[in-house]
Amino acid sequence: MTTDRTSFVDLRSDTVTQPTPAMREAMMAAPLGDDVFGTDPSVNALQEKIAAMLGFEAALFVPTGTQSNLCAILSHCGRGDEYIVGQQAHCYRWEGGGAAVFGSVQPQPLDHAPDGTLPLAQIEAAIKPDDAHFARTRLLALENTLGGKLLPFEYVQAATDLAKSKGLQRHLDGARLFNAATAQAALNKRGDIRAEARRIAQCFDSVSVCFSKGLGAPIGSALVGSREFIARAHRIRKMAGGGMRQAGLLAAAASHALDHHVDRLADDHALAQRLAQGLEGIEGLKVEAPHTNIVFVDLTGAAQARSSELLASLNSQGILATGLYRLRFVTHLDVDAAGVDRAVAAIRAFFAKS
Ligand SMILES: *Cc1c(COP(=O)(O)O)cnc(C)c1O
Repeated sequence: MTTDRTSFVDLRSDTVTQPTPAMREAMMAAPLGDDVFGTDPSVNALQEKIAAMLGFEAALFVPTGTQSNLCAILSHCGRGDEYIVGQQAHCYRWEGGGAAVFGSVQPQPLDHAPDGTLPLAQIEAAIKPDDAHFARTRLLALENTLGGKLLPFEYVQAATDLAKSKGLQRHLDGARLFNAATAQAALNKRGDIRAEARRIAQCFDSVSVCFSKGLGAPIGSALVGSREFIARAHRIRKMAGGGMRQAGLLAAAASHALDHHVDRLADDHALAQRLAQGLEGIEGLKVEAPHTNIVFVDLTGAAQARSSELLASLNSQGILATGLYRLRFVTHLDVDAAGVDRAVAAIRAFFAKS
């Protein structure tokens, strides 16, 4: 859909952001080469920047987070291997089963605890013995944030330590790693978002980060890992059709986002709090206190029957959200306090008339 951005309050996802004027300028100014030849200076600079930022040897720029996770899983696992993953994890549930389809890698999904973690005992029990009956358990894949929830850092350490002690590789789907780091920095009163991002990332052998979510770039993700791992991932990216030519145009946007949009993620988190607080106390709404930039609101009782009507009403006022009985509102670069207040007022008005 086309949106007149001054009148729309688009809370469907943080992927909907438009590149800012400064980001567009950075894109236009980017020196370009041909990244399939490895000679695009802007891509190379971005890869070096994100690898250094997160403390890894190498990085690979890819068009999507889906392709990044696919490259990661297929670089860690071969045919007949399996990875342990959460039922709600993007790379298991929301990516068309790519690792199974393209790589014959079997997922071993586990249920999440209410805080989003995969209980350590369940992880340990899911690791198969070396026996011809079983797929070879090779990898633990976690996601942080998961549905906007920050995984407790002590848990991340314990789960990845357990995986390592059992000889598993460890992958983080950190599509929203910098949101996680922002929340973790606030929680620890450390205030250093980059240090927290690095602390989380260093628990893993590979990490995927999206530039096209809260960071506000139009397209792109990065996968980081060891040099040898990234060389394998590079081959998978080629097979997946992800070799891009003058990709520096996009890498420059991502690089601009890393330089200018990390510290402002806290603003999105504050707006999510504002939204959640604004919706408190409405009969029939159960609001989950957000950790980051995603607010989930469950409709309960009689309110459930009015869900479609609510969404249509909001839509007619230019306020966009997703869900049905569980609504999702995501704050981002292109939403401000006035927009959030408009959404709150519209929802309150809807439930005030019966
Ligand atoms: C958005 C997202 C991805 C990948 O998304 P693409 O649309 O393929 O870029 C992967 N993991 C998580 C957790 C995400 O939120």
